[in-house]
Amino acid sequence: MVKLAEWRGKELFRKYGIPLPKGQVARSAEEAETLTRDGRVPLPCVVKAQVLAGGRGKGGAVKFANTPEEARAAGSAILGLEFKGEKVKELLLEQKLPIARELYLSITLDRSQRLPILIASAQGGMEIETVDDSAIERLPIHPFPGLAAYERRRIGQVLGVSGATAKSLDSLLGALWELFVREDAELVEINPLAVVGDGLVALDAKVIIEDDASFRHPEYDAIRDDRTPLEEIAREKGIAFVQLDGNIGVIANGAGLTMATLDVLKEFGGDPGVFLDLGGTDDPKKVTEAFLLMAQARPKAVFLNIFGGVTRCDTVATGLVEAMKQVPADGRFPLVARIRGNNEKEGIEILRAAGITSIPTLRESAQAVIAAARGSA
Ligand code: ADP
Ligand code: MG
Repeated sequence: MVKLAEWRGKELFRKYGIPLPKGQVARSAEEAETLTRDGRVPLPCVVKAQVLAGGRGKGGAVKFANTPEEARAAGSAILGLEFKGEKVKELLLEQKLPIARELYLSITLDRSQRLPILIASAQGGMEIETVDDSAIERLPIHPFPGLAAYERRRIGQVLGVSGATAKSLDSLLGALWELFVREDAELVEINPLAVVGDGLVALDAKVIIEDDASFRHPEYDAIRDDRTPLEEIAREKGIAFVQLDGNIGVIANGAGLTMATLDVLKEFGGDPGVFLDLGGTDDPKKVTEAFLLMAQARPKAVFLNIFGGVTRCDTVATGLVEAMKQVPADGRFPLVARIRGNNEKEGIEILRAAGITSIPTLRESAQAVIAAARGSA
């Protein structure tokens, strides 16, 4: 998933003509001071941590400054923060605007309705999850015509704007929709959208680009930093692989069984870590590749839980045995297998020949792998 930092989101806003405060990015406290001293950022200003987590305002990651010295101090305080686990490396400095009201506006995909949906509320500034449902308008948007004029007027009523402000809202909504579609966004959120004088200004920006469209956006390749290096390799190889904090590696097939396996391990007091979903693989080489990737994550023990449907148990077993041979001696770990279903007998036989026993029940196999992870801890 490509989540854009506020300033990158705002670069997109600028491209589509959504009004913004005057601002600049800084990467040091000195730079924050210089930008305000030479007027590239007008004073008073706001200094904001560029992290992906929200709630910065409440969390001390948004500060105001009246002088270049204050901008420097705010910058240095914020750059020293680790905000919700993320080190702050960049700041956005912006002109502080006199806000009359804070509104909320976003467009996202409603997967149950299978439509983009516009969400608006006159109670902006706080997280939308905390706003009373009765104060939130949700408008499904037909993807082909986009937002109709009457729909844009309706949003104006919901937000309580009229006259010149309503006019700027009208064009802002058009721009927001355009951005959502053209940039393959999964979410565009402006919170708050501030009423300043009789105009509107986007004070915050949250943009997430749809992962399935990422091939159309090589411009974000360098900032796809929410994956671990191993997850990155897995993605390139087309392997569904996720690294959690636990110590038990899980290999299963299909998202349903994979998730259920994680659940069962938790239920019995285990701590699932890396998991990979073989999906409907019919290529033992793919299994080997996936397994070797798992080995690199250094699990304490690995649980192979396969229900053969499309995937054949013997394919998985063959790939697995091959991979076990390739894992270097110092990177070995106990493996507990449970393989059922299509070509089960053949699969069990292949595993047995390699010294691995398949335990038929989920309870026993899960408990065995948890014990193994503890034993080798
Ligand atoms: P977050 O959503 O992470 O808390 P925001 O960017 O929404 O961060 O900022 C938090 C609050 O700071 C806003 O609701 C607004 O009241 C205030 N704020 C942000 N930018 C400005 C600005 N340019 N001028 C005045 N106030 C601002
Ligand atoms: Mg915000």
